[in-house]
Amino acid sequence: MSFDSLGLSASILKAVEGQGYDTPSPIQEQAIPAVLGGRDVMAAAQTGTGKTAGFTLPLLELLSKGDKVKPNQVRALVLTPTRELAAQVAESVDTYGKFLPLTSTVVFGGVKINAQMMRLRKGVDVLVATPGRLLDLYQQNAVRFQQLEVLVLDEADRMLDMGFIHDIKKILAVLPKQRQNLMFSATFSDEIRSLAKGLVNDPVEISVAKRNTTAESVSQWIYGVDKNQKAAALTQLIEDNQWEQVLVFTKTKHGANRLTKQLDSKGITAAAIHGNKSQGARTRALADFKDKSIRVLVATDIAARGLDIDQLPQVVNYDLPNVAEDYVHRIGRTGRAGAVGQAVSLVTAEEFKLLSAIERLTNQLLERRELEGFAPVHKLPESRLDTRPRKPKKPKKPKEHHDGQRSGENARGHKPATPGRRRSPRRKPSGAGGQSGGKTAS
Ligand code: AMP
Repeated sequence: MSFDSLGLSASILKAVEGQGYDTPSPIQEQAIPAVLGGRDVMAAAQTGTGKTAGFTLPLLELLSKGDKVKPNQVRALVLTPTRELAAQVAESVDTYGKFLPLTSTVVFGGVKINAQMMRLRKGVDVLVATPGRLLDLYQQNAVRFQQLEVLVLDEADRMLDMGFIHDIKKILAVLPKQRQNLMFSATFSDEIRSLAKGLVNDPVEISVAKRNTTAESVSQWIYGVDKNQKAAALTQLIEDNQWEQVLVFTKTKHGANRLTKQLDSKGITAAAIHGNKSQGARTRALADFKDKSIRVLVATDIAARGLDIDQLPQVVNYDLPNVAEDYVHRIGRTGRAGAVGQAVSLVTAEEFKLLSAIERLTNQLLERRELEGFAPVHKLPESRLDTRPRKPKKPKKPKEHHDGQRSGENARGHKPATPGRRRSPRRKPSGAGGQSGGKTAS
């Protein structure tokens, strides 16, 4: 199948071609015609599947046919849990829409609000936003939704994990009921299904990756090490294997800072990315990592969520995550689009329970290798695969993240609540009409 047969116009196809994509990914094959047909969509898809283009391309196609946007209005709203993801989605909107006369912008917390208010003045066709900042802007009358046609909820599971349900419900309450809804989530818990019930109407359901499976193109193994040897072990691994671009995960922001310093002191260039870093520092660290002016990016789970780094060869779990699902997300950063990746974990005896939870979730025992000179004093117990079904999770308490602050927002401390049922009538496919105004910077 080629992009030409999906119903996209020449301007969009030209932008897609410019990216070098010749074949739509499975999610794009399914989502693009559904969205163009005006249907609601509920898709189970992780980062790395091409989901962003899966909703952005048909969204731009629909918007290119509708009415011109009015001051302070928005025609499509994309909600994301983190600043990084918001910035990346906005970049995709810009890229794929570069030959269309549509406007877009991105708003998120942690930076001054005034410039964002100015950018919303003339109205925008596509607004990408994190929930808290969007509500602030709404409350200050900087954004209006009478013209809203499409709502996209990206990484819905992570939004709930981060306690945004309250904000999302407030936003839904001020949107027109007549609209198209697209919901994307890596996992579909009961909580997500319950949110979906009140959000999407007779959706086309798409699932492109089995839940909680890890990509086969990623080789994974672990080294048992003692806690106080982790930094030295990582240094040795980087040097011996001449890894030039490594994404390293730590559990805490302090751990990330400490490790960055330790690596720097050994002459390995590194930068940390976490919730306590300013937006500028995060953007800089990511840019430096992408252009290979630093070798190691040390990240906490939340900051790393949705980072779009092409063909990342190497991921290291310096600490195992507390939540087994995060392991799957972490190693999803590598081995993308057919490239082969490696995911290596440094595991102490104290982390054995976390290891077992990961092995149970992914239904495989992780290969153990020995790192010369680092045999642990505290040995890692043998793993046995626990194949009993996992118990359904209890409703989540609001999570106090190790990052302290949520990466999309100023902390607001909302408790996740059980979402109420709302029905939103299905939006009709938009008809032909005038074109929208000139492009603004995002
Ligand atoms: P996403 O799942 O949206 O985060 O996209 C993952 C990566 O796949 C991004 O770097 C995209 O640029 C890339 N990508 C998206 N669609 C395609 C495609 N059809 N062919 C090749 N690469 C793609």
